[in-house]
Amino acid sequence: MRYIGRFAPSPTGPLHFGSLLAALASYADARAHQGLWLVRIEDLDPPREQQGASALILSTLEAFGFDWDGEVIYQSQRSSFYRDAVDQLQQQHQAYRCSCSRKQVSNRTGGIRYDGHCHALHPPHAQACAIRAHCAAGSIELHDAIQGPAVYHLARDHGDFVIQRRDGLFAYQLAVVVDDAAQQISHVVRGSDLLDETPCQIQLQRYLGYTRPDYAHIPVATSSSGQKLSKQNQAPPLDAGNPVPALIAALEFLGQQPDAALRDASASELLHWAVEHWSMASIPKTRGLPWSGD
Ligand code: GLU
Ligand code: ZN
Repeated sequence: MRYIGRFAPSPTGPLHFGSLLAALASYADARAHQGLWLVRIEDLDPPREQQGASALILSTLEAFGFDWDGEVIYQSQRSSFYRDAVDQLQQQHQAYRCSCSRKQVSNRTGGIRYDGHCHALHPPHAQACAIRAHCAAGSIELHDAIQGPAVYHLARDHGDFVIQRRDGLFAYQLAVVVDDAAQQISHVVRGSDLLDETPCQIQLQRYLGYTRPDYAHIPVATSSSGQKLSKQNQAPPLDAGNPVPALIAALEFLGQQPDAALRDASASELLHWAVEHWSMASIPKTRGLPWSGD
């Protein structure tokens, strides 16, 4: 099987150090395996998008020396594929219409875990509904290449989850699974903030008859208070005019040991070095690590 990896940013803002870690780790691991590396823009949620962010993300990746294979795909162009997958799941009785508001769920359950209320209820078609995937009983085993083995019980611990929102927008969980399969992604390397989303994705892969990729979840950069560095908490954007210090910091964060001489290298030379010396085994086996900035 050919190694095909990917980087799948959401255009909710410019790339920051946290996104660079995911880009770098997925890129280096793919190239170290003579694999392809694809870029997919996850622009599923127009209200959360920032004008111009997609173009800025791509030009920043170029400035950092990343070269991707093939055309960039945009999730905003792929609704018909997501619709087909939702239809298939409904036909297979693995997804159902749910008319519950968040408030109704919390009134019933005291929490946010969905209780399966609409599973056997079939709300009238006139009612605005979300579509939920039904979690099968039983366990899902995941052996993450960095975080190690874990066993999940989705039906017991997680509850049926939304794959299409009431407003018609498709959920990340559904789109990521459809696209990873369509692009024949063999290896997913991404931030550990998505580790707990992975069992839902495996559930959908099983229902849709897709092959499961291998997963590696890298530690995320956190502030000293333990919060994940993100666009939401104003992580500073990457400086496309000065990629080398950020690339070196990212390599060090990922447990790689760039030579001091590389400080004078170009971004492309650094990436070349990263691929040649790439060691997945050296990545710290933890979900998060504090990062203080450069
Ligand atoms: N678009 C997601 C994000 O930016 C990443 C999706 C993924 O790698 O599976 O957080
Ligand atoms: Zn419901």
